[in-house]
Amino acid sequence: MRKNNIMVPTPNSNFLSVQCLKCGENTIIFTYTTMDIECKSCGELVAKKTGGKANVVGKVLSVLD
Ligand SMILES: [Zn+2]
Repeated sequence: MRKNNIMVPTPNSNFLSVQCLKCGENTIIFTYTTMDIECKSCGELVAKKTGGKANVVGKVLSVLD
């Protein structure tokens, strides 16, 4: 697991722990993303880019500061 060693100075930003609906793998995603995010295990989409806050497709397990 990655440690909190984030160098993105964005206010109101946080991370979400999202569970893949397909395989159950947990993926940590950035709340504001400019990319579609896929499950690292099976490749299923877990969050879509929207130009702002990510549109989470999977199940949000927790919000990480
Ligand atoms: Zn998956």
